[in-house]
Amino acid sequence: METYKDAAMRSQLHTRREQLVQAITQTGDNQQLVRLLQDVDAALERIDNGKLGICDVCHEPIEDRRLQVEPFATICLSHLSKEQQDAFERDLELASAIQRKLLPDKQERIDGWEVHYHYEPAGLVSGDYCDLIKPESKGRDAYILFGDVSGKGVAASLLMSRLHAIFRSLIISDLSFHQLVEKANKLFCDSTLSAHFATLVSAKVSKDGDVEICNAGHCPPLLIRNGQVTSISSTGIPVGMFCDTRYELKNLNLNKGDTLLLYTDGLTETRNPSGEDYSEERLTKFVADNHHLIPSALISACLADFNTFRSGASKVDDLTIMVLRRNG
Ligand SMILES: [Zn+2]
Repeated sequence: METYKDAAMRSQLHTRREQLVQAITQTGDNQQLVRLLQDVDAALERIDNGKLGICDVCHEPIEDRRLQVEPFATICLSHLSKEQQDAFERDLELASAIQRKLLPDKQERIDGWEVHYHYEPAGLVSGDYCDLIKPESKGRDAYILFGDVSGKGVAASLLMSRLHAIFRSLIISDLSFHQLVEKANKLFCDSTLSAHFATLVSAKVSKDGDVEICNAGHCPPLLIRNGQVTSISSTGIPVGMFCDTRYELKNLNLNKGDTLLLYTDGLTETRNPSGEDYSEERLTKFVADNHHLIPSALISACLADFNTFRSGASKVDDLTIMVLRRNG
């Protein structure tokens, strides 16, 4: 019988497959994309044959720890030499420590706003990207960057740190927000393999409550206003797919108490033992019912609801939630 983990992996692979097929249709017969599509099909076949995560040498399940780094590994970590195993562990722990240093402070107050987040890799490192760039000086804008790099583990975390570096360097230049997003997409695209991409919400946040927001293929952020929840749908394709993509921005104005909640699909696409997704619908209802909570409490309550729902089913994806509330 198919495990929950296989089912989740299969659903992610199908999403990936659709994105690749769409990209191939748009770009013509791009050989790199075609090869990546073949890799996805090979992985789906391994699931069909019940071989995903099964060792080719001993035919036993491969260690979770190894699969978190290499989801399609075909040999157990334990077949490597002691030295190779130790090196694997050391590298991973160091990568994890470096990645943690890239995160903003857990809770921040910037002029007119309060920001909290929860960042939880499925393994030691994560492909989720979460950053808050505070205003350089009083009166300037802050930036929120929040996304999910395709894939998992070390490869995804390298791309996450790449995106982090791109935005951190571009923000000090005097680009408009539009130019900033498009330039970041171009730089990311130039430096990654063609099927690596990131879904990304970027937002420029002023002290007066004005928010310019761009959703490049990411799960729709939720805007919570007086207990009513609306979602901010995607306005473009993920960053890193095509170098010259134009992105549309949306303008919002948040009043005191209005809240934006951002999350990655590790929240909404995690399944319970009955095979149901946590889902955007459940999240929307939950935040509407709990909108009165302060940001840190809203995140804690949401995680508690998520864990109740999950009832022990394993987490297969990185999970990040961020809450941004206007308090000025
Ligand atoms: Zn083995």
